[in-house]
Amino acid sequence: MVRRYLWIWSVSAILAVGSACAADPAYRCVLDDGRTVPIVADATLQNVAAARIDRNANRVIVFNPVYMAPFQVETRWFWFAHECAHQQLDQVSTAYTAQTEGDADCYAIDQLLAHGQIDLAGVKKVVDDMSKMEGDAKHYLPGPQRADHIAGCALAYERRSNQPDG
Ligand SMILES: [Zn+2]
Repeated sequence: MVRRYLWIWSVSAILAVGSACAADPAYRCVLDDGRTVPIVADATLQNVAAARIDRNANRVIVFNPVYMAPFQVETRWFWFAHECAHQQLDQVSTAYTAQTEGDADCYAIDQLLAHGQIDLAGVKKVVDDMSKMEGDAKHYLPGPQRADHIAGCALAYERRSNQPDG
């Protein structure tokens, strides 16, 4: 039986590797009720990251550090925020569609901007990274389209937050 390796590293340690921003606080995924979703490294994952509900019905985010490494820090945070959005929007048990993926992308950008974890220069880096990606036949838009969508989410957020109160 092949033993499945599962590394549980702190995300801050992972992000510190290859990053000039070693002092960055670790990304945390917090649900509306205040619970934190654990983020676990799994080198067998065939994707950058994924949102899951484990066999004990606990929410978890897994990521592959090898796939994550080439991305700029802001884009790594975006990946975590995207998977966190699936957890926050309770989309994990539903089949992912272009709609749920687009919603999660927008929610992720909103959360990162709202919490000051990214600024518009950071969004630009995410957009640059995403524009180089390929889509898939299932639910992801081709990279350039996904990048445009993400840029649109950030602009919409800025427009909303610049509206006068009342
Ligand atoms: Zn997704």
